[in-house]
Amino acid sequence: MERYWNEEIETMSREDMKKLQDERLVAQVKHVYENVEYYRNLMDEKGVKPEDIKSTEDLHKLPFLSKADLRDAYPYGLLAKPLSKCVRIQSTSGTTGRRVVAFYTQHDIDLWEDCCARAITAAGGTNEDVCQVCYGYGLFTGGPGLNGGSHKVGCLTLPMSSGNTERQIQFMRDLGSTILCCTPSYAAYIGETLHDMGFTPDDIKLKAGIFGAEPWTEEMRCSIEKSLGIKAYDIYGLTETSGPGVSFECSEQTGMHINEDHFIPEIINPETEEVLPEGEVGELVFTSITKEAFPLLRYRTRDLCVLSRKKCSCGRTLIKMSKPMGRSDDMLIIRGVNVFPSQIETVLIEQGYSPNYLIEVDRVNNSDTLDISVEMTPEQLSDKVKDMQDKEKELAGAIRTMLGISPKVHLVSPKSITRSEGKAVRVIDRRKLHD
Ligand code: ADP
Ligand code: ZN
Repeated sequence: MERYWNEEIETMSREDMKKLQDERLVAQVKHVYENVEYYRNLMDEKGVKPEDIKSTEDLHKLPFLSKADLRDAYPYGLLAKPLSKCVRIQSTSGTTGRRVVAFYTQHDIDLWEDCCARAITAAGGTNEDVCQVCYGYGLFTGGPGLNGGSHKVGCLTLPMSSGNTERQIQFMRDLGSTILCCTPSYAAYIGETLHDMGFTPDDIKLKAGIFGAEPWTEEMRCSIEKSLGIKAYDIYGLTETSGPGVSFECSEQTGMHINEDHFIPEIINPETEEVLPEGEVGELVFTSITKEAFPLLRYRTRDLCVLSRKKCSCGRTLIKMSKPMGRSDDMLIIRGVNVFPSQIETVLIEQGYSPNYLIEVDRVNNSDTLDISVEMTPEQLSDKVKDMQDKEKELAGAIRTMLGISPKVHLVSPKSITRSEGKAVRVIDRRKLHD
């Protein structure tokens, strides 16, 4: 039986949800216009007044906000509440440049943790569970968000943060952790370490994992599920909208339900900014309709995905987003071809390799080069040079079929690629250094 954290909201009729969104949007636009000079200027430039926004149908009239705006307005320019009402800041991991700082009132923290509680409940979590949180704690939202959600659900919470993987496994065994929260790349590393310590999934009590904060493929999911003996659920979010829990996966595992009572999603064409119909791939844009301190309207996430209102077997009526296939700025253009690291990961795992790899792109004599180092498992290792060369060729061929361009593949020895305890770094683009 599917369990919900907030059944009324999670299974609300579309009509009622729209009504709720309309009301909240109108109030939020007014709040932002009155309190945030930066956004008021953007609205004035576009000739939109708060009175013009009467329902979600009017959303398209509002200006967009981008990461560049956040950097311009750093640190206090988008704050919508007096500092005396704010109780916390968090910050982005700075994966793609200067950090962004987000502010929270107590109300904002509560709603964020509530979203995380929905995710934990959807993954089967109850107050009987022991929830081990190995996302980083600190400015990064992963640890604090899931920690708060786990408390709400009433799980015994292990605030481990990331790192010291053997100790993670020892605690997991000693305390009988049943739920694991971390990045998918760290989950893969924990699975590998478990095996190296001579244990199997039967030696731990984990049943579910809640993994997010970075893109991961279906193939990676299968590999983690096998190595830890769990069901692995996706969770999505970004600091700008609060943190993890903006959307979460249910038992159907075919996309993540967006907490629409707090965040209204749109998909746009990133070049023309035109709003796209449901089912088309584009950039995800969020309007937060309940946050007080840092309420971004029409924030461009740069994450590429598809929205779907197809009926879900879990009974939730919240709209679903597909796994983001990467950010628009993660996309590599190599010899004129668009390449997402996730496409390469798919091929590697399909071909029986580990999810430990490094993509290096460079430009030599005006031509782009693509080198992929892939770690072998101990079983794949061979003394014969010819064997290795054949394997490299075979893998390069499979990647060429997927991407349409030929990479140079380097099979490297087991454990030679640095493991990630947080967000994995999979790409080094040296062309940027030349520019
Ligand atoms: P940074 O932009 O510095 O990485 P955040 O830590 O706030 O800052 O990360 C948010 C971003 O992480 C999202 O915009 C998205 O690109 C990525 N992300 C988060 N969860 C997922 C997920 N489940 N799948 C794919 N990408 C994700
Ligand atoms: Zn569902």
